[in-house]
Amino acid sequence: MKVLLVEDDTIIADAILKTIARTEFSVDHVATLSEASTAIKTSEIEIIILDLGLPDGDGLQFLKKLREEGNHSPIIILTARDRPKDRVLGVDRGADDCLAKPFDMSELIARMRAIKRRSAGRASNSIIYHRLKLMPDHQASFVDDIPVSLPISQFRLLQYLLEEQGRVKTKQQIIDTLYCWDKNVEENTIEVYISQLRKSLWAI
Ligand code: CA
Repeated sequence: MKVLLVEDDTIIADAILKTIARTEFSVDHVATLSEASTAIKTSEIEIIILDLGLPDGDGLQFLKKLREEGNHSPIIILTARDRPKDRVLGVDRGADDCLAKPFDMSELIARMRAIKRRSAGRASNSIIYHRLKLMPDHQASFVDDIPVSLPISQFRLLQYLLEEQGRVKTKQQIIDTLYCWDKNVEENTIEVYISQLRKSLWAI
């Protein structure tokens, strides 16, 4: 899977490149948005890791433009911990995930692998688990082939749990992956979401 790293800080970029080199991903590195544009147009990029403060512009604007142009490559944004608003804006503008600097390299790789699994799930158009079927492209869910209407918060949670089935996840991991832009989500919020999800699914 080809990754494009857009990061102008050479120390951070080097650390990320060294880490990715030890994984199944291959990576190209650029330090400006104009180089990123060229790389995206000229090669098949499957994940973009995007720093927000770049010498020739704002990563958030770049992200917005990419989505407007119809580019749906998964994007992980790298935000500064003292700028929590960037996370909200990043997700509003179509980022798939966000990591606040400084972060653990193992966390970045875990997020990339999660995106890879999600992409594989999306490619097959539906996720089936016992009596449940999910069609992420259409945000449609079924129990025994009967449609169940789920609010987006429950749908995303269910999709995540199905994509990660067989892997034990802590509440904090769920929050970090699904709700990292939302400071109001705490561990007990996840319990509430899970209980709502159970009610929605088994009400029929
Ligand atoms: Ca920067």
